[in-house]
Amino acid sequence: MYTKVKGTIDFLPEQSKKLTSLENYLKDVASLYGYQEIRVPILSYSELIHRSSGESSDIVTKETFDFKDRGDRMVTLRPEGTAPVVRAVLENKLYTSNLPLKLFYSGPMFRYERPQKGRYREFSQFGVEVVGSNSPYMDAEVITLATTIFKSLRIKNFRVRLNTLGDDDSRNNYKVALKEYFKDKLDLLCNDCKKRYETNTLRILDCKIDKDNEVLLNAPKISDYLSDKSKEEFEVVKSYLDLLHIPYIVDLKLVRGLDYYTNTIFEVELVDENDNSISQAICAGGRYNNLTKMLGGPELGSVGFAFGIERLSEIIDERVDYSHKIFAQFIPIGINAKMHLIELMQEIREHGFSSEMNYESLNLKGHFKSSDQNNARFLIICGDDELKDKKIRIKDKVQDTDDLIDESKLLEYMLHRIRCNRDCETCDGGCDEN
Ligand code: ATP
Ligand code: MG
Repeated sequence: MYTKVKGTIDFLPEQSKKLTSLENYLKDVASLYGYQEIRVPILSYSELIHRSSGESSDIVTKETFDFKDRGDRMVTLRPEGTAPVVRAVLENKLYTSNLPLKLFYSGPMFRYERPQKGRYREFSQFGVEVVGSNSPYMDAEVITLATTIFKSLRIKNFRVRLNTLGDDDSRNNYKVALKEYFKDKLDLLCNDCKKRYETNTLRILDCKIDKDNEVLLNAPKISDYLSDKSKEEFEVVKSYLDLLHIPYIVDLKLVRGLDYYTNTIFEVELVDENDNSISQAICAGGRYNNLTKMLGGPELGSVGFAFGIERLSEIIDERVDYSHKIFAQFIPIGINAKMHLIELMQEIREHGFSSEMNYESLNLKGHFKSSDQNNARFLIICGDDELKDKKIRIKDKVQDTDDLIDESKLLEYMLHRIRCNRDCETCDGGCDEN
């Protein structure tokens, strides 16, 4: 009997179906935000991965699948998407077009880790990379996109863990302070951290073994070493998130496991509503202003994130249907209404909302079935009575509402419903303002 390689997974038809629709959904959302897909090889020259992640990073020292190909070249199965995507941007000189580039990718990654729930040796990530923007507003927009995905998947108990590593000066000053602080405390650190002291002091803060060690808890804080510019930029990110009511905590101890991060970094984690405990991070990312230069290209401020698809898939409520392919289904009752709704549907389509109508002569039940198959969010119904009064009936399947509105208000109404969907504070998602 042959078995699968340790740490890999077979996705049987049911699970595959779920993963595929989740991936398609993520691609749709990213497209909506103006990102375009990029597909890059899984196989990479080792140097790219080692250089970008950092020779002393956990990923490179313990987790990469490195081997020699038959031509004696050292190659690595990609452990993450950012370095290969940035390599492709540079190699294909994509940065000579309009900046910023907004790219998304999805596919398998490989890390030699101890397999357990949510941690595999072959797993999938979905990620976005914005290349060629130095604006902290973009950091916040990228975080917002990540949290929008959580919200639209009806995952309520998520929270952003946020920090800044500052610009190069801030980080260098901070590293000096950390070196000084840990100098006479090396005995109190784990063996890995003793090595990190020499190779990458910052990463001591990311120690997974010694999380509650007093020595780590009392270490100097990055906030005391930030330049004025880095402080201001971090304030922009926070006010943007405040404005949109995105839940976050600032964690001055957060550092990420890869060497290329600068400035804003974040993780999105789930918080147990009962005991406030935190489960594994589902999404992580941040700004990496030095990577393009490190890989031999021009300096291009960049920011991105990656979701673990399997981890995300494990927390999605099976009952939630997130694959809203068709946004609005137009349901005519009678021939007069049909012609009228065709006009209205065209108008809505021209506004960029995907819409459908089943042209067969169906009864209401038949139309409902058809909209279920299409996964339509809004059902827009019109018969002779409504037509006479220039009204339409609209059902929102997400918020479970049913209203009779002026047909001239249709677009406005739908937009309002979408907005309310974002946990709008004043109406709690159920407001009847239309
Ligand atoms: P962790 O702290 O859990 O090891 P990480 O910091 O190594 O995560 P990233 O490199 O930031 O993770 O990758 C982004 C996301 O990819 C993670 O938040 C997680 O959802 C997913 N991920 C990372 N490693 C694995 C793995 N071995 N198996 C499954 N998913 C993973
Ligand atoms: Mg890891």
